[in-house]
Amino acid sequence: MTKNNIIWHMATVTRQRREEANRHRSMALWFTGLSGAGKSTLAHAVEERLFSMGANTYVFDGDNVRHGLCRDLGFSREERSENIRRIAEMVKLFLDSGIIALTAFISPFREDRQRVREILGPENFFEIYCRCSLETCEQRDVKGIYRKARLGEVPHFTGITAPYEEPEQPDLVLDTDRQTLAECVEAVVKAIKERASFDC
Ligand code: ADP
Repeated sequence: MTKNNIIWHMATVTRQRREEANRHRSMALWFTGLSGAGKSTLAHAVEERLFSMGANTYVFDGDNVRHGLCRDLGFSREERSENIRRIAEMVKLFLDSGIIALTAFISPFREDRQRVREILGPENFFEIYCRCSLETCEQRDVKGIYRKARLGEVPHFTGITAPYEEPEQPDLVLDTDRQTLAECVEAVVKAIKERASFDC
């Protein structure tokens, strides 16, 4: 592929070889939901389980990405889309490296998540909706940010002054305000075991 004299280098150590060595497929577990819904907690807890089973994993966390790769982006509609697009392109490279990527981004817009599905390929994208009422997220207020949002100090805050579009056909729904963390972790591991062709 040539574009502006940029040529894609083909690796000899391919994704397929890496997957065979890892004894599982690479894929993205895409956690979506309101701030405080449990995406980050779940991504790390699921990673802990998969890693202890011998899988190659990595968690991509919203705040971490915004410290570096996407530090120039804010929270307008366009900037959120660009944030998610960059993350998808980064995760795509990581899928080539053979890992199971677990992502914890609010990713509030359906259109943006659909684009991730297209960038990664539908067979690599497993959408997990962390469903939790706004009231519970607000009560948890893990980062104290809901309080600030109610005071008008956080523009474009999802659930308060910006929309969250629920997934229409997620691969898995977790009711994080009714199920325990352990139950949610079990549900994810059970759901992806076959999809990731686990043999480790
Ligand atoms: P997010 O990444 O979606 O912003 P966090 O993971 O930072 O959310 O915070 C979720 C909070 O909810 C944590 O304090 C966590 O302990 C709590 N929690 C309670 N039940 C669950 C559950 N079933 N799954 C995930 N988190 C839960």
